[in-house]
Amino acid sequence: MTKKEILETIELRQSTLKTWLSCPLMYKFRHIDKLEPAFRYPGTIHGSALHLILSWLHQGEWKGDLRALYTKALNYYLYASPEEHIPVRWKRDMGKEIEALKVNAVEILENYRSKVYNRDVIVLFSEVQFRVKILGYEFTGTIDQVRKNPDGSIQLLDFKSSKQRPNQFAIPNDLQLTLYMYACKFGELLVDDIWVKPNMLVDSVGIYFLRGHEVYKRKVVGKEIGDEKGSPFMMTRKSIQDLRAFRHEIRAQLSAMVKPWYYPNTASCSFCTYATHCVSRNDNVPEKDIDMAHELLAELNMT
Ligand code: SF4
Repeated sequence: MTKKEILETIELRQSTLKTWLSCPLMYKFRHIDKLEPAFRYPGTIHGSALHLILSWLHQGEWKGDLRALYTKALNYYLYASPEEHIPVRWKRDMGKEIEALKVNAVEILENYRSKVYNRDVIVLFSEVQFRVKILGYEFTGTIDQVRKNPDGSIQLLDFKSSKQRPNQFAIPNDLQLTLYMYACKFGELLVDDIWVKPNMLVDSVGIYFLRGHEVYKRKVVGKEIGDEKGSPFMMTRKSIQDLRAFRHEIRAQLSAMVKPWYYPNTASCSFCTYATHCVSRNDNVPEKDIDMAHELLAELNMT
């Protein structure tokens, strides 16, 4: 594929960038070959459901029944979302796993809701789509939340529910977070079906680590049973100069993304939902030969 063809094929979404940074080969499977993952993880669906409820909480459901809200959100991702046909890889009995997810969701959301710093904020934007041009290319995506705190400061938050806490030292260099911040300053957000230009330089940007609201079930050094696991905030600050420098960084990434070779990043393999596509590939056979073989197999009704 040529650079032009690749650019016409991929969507420059923040998720495309995220996949590229995780593994260039996975990016090829997902965004260039348009292959679907072989399965979905329960944890990924859990995270999506939590995101949805957080936006509901700040849109009038603050006092809602958390278990009922979670069940509604989970059912949407399991049975009604555009990915509902992709099987979920349950590790054990599905009913038991779903019950464990519900208990975990209520624990996290109860503690989220109990915090004055969450209750007293004004949420300016929640699960809001953005679009922004960077050096001639339009990037799109969704920002989890932009909030105004009682002291007037503005924070841009990306909710994370992965089991492992992200590395604090990686936050200042996180390209996705910088892209969100860049979009608030130079791009447009879709609010009530209208694209608006907030022209907003947020005071800080970072990850809100939802599992910081889980509680210890056993006593550990320095913590009692029932204590929360830690602060959910993992923030950084960026200046307007940082945002300008980001343009060049993103251009460097983009120029690598449109070159038709993709290096596997095997550090991501153990969690990869594209592993079945990956093991069946053969890097030693030229693409045109593979296409020809597929055509012959198709003629013989063997595909
Ligand atoms: S299995 Fe590993 S190398 Fe292959 S696409 Fe997934 S992460 Fe990349």
